[in-house]
Amino acid sequence: MQDEIPFHVPSFRVRPLPAPELRKDLLVDRWVIVSTDRLSRALELHSANTVTPLEACPFCAGNERMTSAALLELFDEHGRWRVRVVPNLYPAVRSNVVAQAWSDGWHDGCKAVGRQEVVVECPQHETSLANLPAEQLTQVLGAYRERLQAAQEDPRLAYAIVFKNSGAEAGASLEHAHSQLLILPQVPRIVQEELDAAKRHFDSNSRCFFCDWWRVEQEAGVRQLLDSPRFSVFLPYAGRFPCEMCILPKEHQSRFEEISAEACQELGDVLRSALRKLQRGLNDPPYNYILHTAPLRSGALPHYHWHLEVLPRITGVAGFEWGSGYFINPVPPEQAAAYLRSVQP
Ligand SMILES: [Zn+2]
Ligand SMILES: [Zn+2]
Ligand SMILES: [Zn+2]
Repeated sequence: MQDEIPFHVPSFRVRPLPAPELRKDLLVDRWVIVSTDRLSRALELHSANTVTPLEACPFCAGNERMTSAALLELFDEHGRWRVRVVPNLYPAVRSNVVAQAWSDGWHDGCKAVGRQEVVVECPQHETSLANLPAEQLTQVLGAYRERLQAAQEDPRLAYAIVFKNSGAEAGASLEHAHSQLLILPQVPRIVQEELDAAKRHFDSNSRCFFCDWWRVEQEAGVRQLLDSPRFSVFLPYAGRFPCEMCILPKEHQSRFEEISAEACQELGDVLRSALRKLQRGLNDPPYNYILHTAPLRSGALPHYHWHLEVLPRITGVAGFEWGSGYFINPVPPEQAAAYLRSVQP
């Protein structure tokens, strides 16, 4: 057996697997390669890219004139905003176009109708969501809930994704802590695959996949990271990225916008602990998180269950992944979970 290899930070030492493994994500039938052979390569890929700070940050309190008018502001008891939602200045989709589709029998297309919103996560120039108090995270989650509810009103729109890019390598172009809503006229393929697979699972087992999943992981324990009365956090068996996490409510709920105020408060706490473990344990790595929830106006679905996927971006995605569809995870999730459990949030 080879010696342990440090991964990303010297204190995180990974035991090499005897041979690479192919692991199947049970829900979407996606296979991942877990190969500790890639450990040293994964280390080389992490470069010191940083986001260039601007002279004046458009997201800081006092610079509100640098953004469009707010779509939502959540205030503190002194009437100062704590979370602010504004239209994205460089949207990939537009709300002010007429939905129009075309086809010439070979080339199909339609106008890219949609909305892109930015959630400014705090008024002060803080770059990391993990450094904010839990109540602030609760307000950010509350802003997601309100904007998801507002998105139901436009019948042209079918799906709202909430995502966060933290750090330049994860795609952030401004360093002030923020996340985004992308509201689209179609359900994205990646979400539709999950929805279809969850439906098939429900049809053949009469049970929600996700309701069973957290119980299985809780029982196994090896990939479990955090546990609270309402939420479970674990590292998926076939996680695509080192230290990939899944956060989900224990009680069945298909749409995030139905979350109660109490659950939102608890989730703020849980999310903060999870992000702080990443920040402290892995030297503040870049990461994305993505909220997967049921499509707009879908009602309560018995087979789908919202969840938050946290994807640390320590390893690169290149030709191997794009070409084959296989992600290579150099760190077995069981070892990553054991390490992160030992890190104090
Ligand atoms: Zn700022
Ligand atoms: Zn469920
Ligand atoms: Zn998902």
